[in-house]
Amino acid sequence: MENISLKHYTNAELLEGLQILVSQERTLSLKVIAFLREIRLRSLHLEMGYPSLFTFCIVELKYSEAAAYYRLNTLDIVDELPEIKQAIETGELSMTTLSMVQSACKAKKRKTKIKVSAEDKKSLLEKVKGKSKKQTEAILHQHFPELQASPKPETEKKLSDDLMGIFFNADPELMKKFKEIKDLIAHQNPSPSYQELFHMMSDFMLDRIDPIRKAQRITRRQERKKEDRKGEQTGLEKISDHEDSLLQPAEVQHKVQNQVQNPPETQSRHCSAQTERAVWVRAQSRCEHMDEKTGHRCAETKRLQLDHVIPYAISHDSSEQNIQLVCTAHNLYRATQWFGSEFMKQKMGSTPVGSPGI
Ligand SMILES: [Zn+2]
Repeated sequence: MENISLKHYTNAELLEGLQILVSQERTLSLKVIAFLREIRLRSLHLEMGYPSLFTFCIVELKYSEAAAYYRLNTLDIVDELPEIKQAIETGELSMTTLSMVQSACKAKKRKTKIKVSAEDKKSLLEKVKGKSKKQTEAILHQHFPELQASPKPETEKKLSDDLMGIFFNADPELMKKFKEIKDLIAHQNPSPSYQELFHMMSDFMLDRIDPIRKAQRITRRQERKKEDRKGEQTGLEKISDHEDSLLQPAEVQHKVQNQVQNPPETQSRHCSAQTERAVWVRAQSRCEHMDEKTGHRCAETKRLQLDHVIPYAISHDSSEQNIQLVCTAHNLYRATQWFGSEFMKQKMGSTPVGSPGI
């Protein structure tokens, strides 16, 4: 950055220069919002391997989480009420204030399932014009009394390099469940800490839902079975090679019928459990979408879905080579790339988001 000396400025020049820069900064912020809107419109962040515009802002643009959050909330509110741009340019409305209003409106919708109308939002923005963060907070509390009773938000705080502090709200039902679990494991550990309890519960849960752990368990079981069979076959004649020729006519018919009813996986849109496990292991439980130009791979590990590399409607192939693991955003993005946005809009009208099912 260029070193500028302001020592020769008079006080008046210094203040005037600063006012001009701040005004330019606001205009620039609105330009940034316009660029972000266009990126979202083109799904460029998805093509580049980011699961959301929020992640794109943090990783690609190096914004802090709060700065990204403010800008995306501003983008949403400007989209809905373009006339507020002028108040942003004059400084009457800051991104912080706008973001606070937008967050409160979202919280109201989450809590009551009722969307705050554009008119209501507009009158609220009039009230917070020129107000500080604290004053805006008070106005929002007054405007949305139903949000006041909300429990303290969940927080994660880094306490040291290898320790996090987590705060969350536990209702009586959850506390009762904790007590039941503690009672049931009392013979192993009569007084577990919450950390120990969460380790146990997490392992228990992961053993059941983590596809990689499941695949490892199944492989271990198969290996054990193989070992057992080896032992049983010692000294016995192998008869499996003659198995088919020894089948009775009715058994042969049953075998053929079974094949028709359960065709090989390449003839079905759904892949086999074995393929599913192999794909999860290959992907290491992470979205496999990759920007072909940069090699940047999406880092999303939540809400992952199996997706055909070449859509089943075209390939009729559900083998491992044609299946990949992708996040909801990239599943939808890929389907839109293949079938066009108009087709997908119609499709999404009857299908939940993120489940193109093509
Ligand atoms: Zn992704």
